Amino acid sequence: MRDDFHPPVEEYLQVVQSLSDEGIAVIQARVAERLRKSPPSVSEMIDRLVVDGYLVRKGRELQLTATGREIARGVIRKHRLAERLLSDIIGLPWHLVHEEAGRWEHVMSDEVEARIVALLGDPGDCPHGNPIPGSAHEKKISVDQRPLSDISAGDVVRFESLGEGAEADVDSMFEFSEAGFLPGTTASVRAKDGEGTVVLQIENSSLSIRRDITEQLFVVCV
Ligand SMILES: [Zn+2]
Repeated sequence: MRDDFHPPVEEYLQVVQSLSDEGIAVIQARVAERLRKSPPSVSEMIDRLVVDGYLVRKGRELQLTATGREIARGVIRKHRLAERLLSDIIGLPWHLVHEEAGRWEHVMSDEVEARIVALLGDPGDCPHGNPIPGSAHEKKISVDQRPLSDISAGDVVRFESLGEGAEADVDSMFEFSEAGFLPGTTASVRAKDGEGTVVLQIENSSLSIRRDITEQLFVVCV
């Protein structure tokens, strides 16, 4: 991992926005986990982002200021557009697009972003089912969506979207694509064990998913 330098400001702000979009309490420990950084170095960077007016502390929780949110949404937009381009046009396998887009999001100029929007017809969501902020077709999140970790065995669910932390687990993403479990797919919940591991049946394939992923995998019951 890139543990020898601080990720850019945008990367921190993007993580704060993603955690809050996923309904996860934005505390320092969660930010450190997602950036795969040590808590002391994250704490130092967060102090700087507060002083510079991008974040505010509300007790243990962090919130974006209006400026911070605008930057975060801009990076998330570029990230998700890059994922669409990589997946739909370039043909990079689904399980690899998140990591690759993580590099593109920081170097994409506004001119290139505008060309990608035109090329792709202003898509409303990324290949993981997350809305693209600012798109004219921005996907509306269903009020009925819940994490898969809340669903009981026997239910039938449709895969709505995946948190950015789960997208970064390339091995799990490979298993998803091998099993044909992508956003929009319907699956039945066959079993759930004491550790929270869920077994899904997707047509002829079965897929077992760990709790840390099911907590970030959003579905609606159908
Ligand atoms: Zn992503």
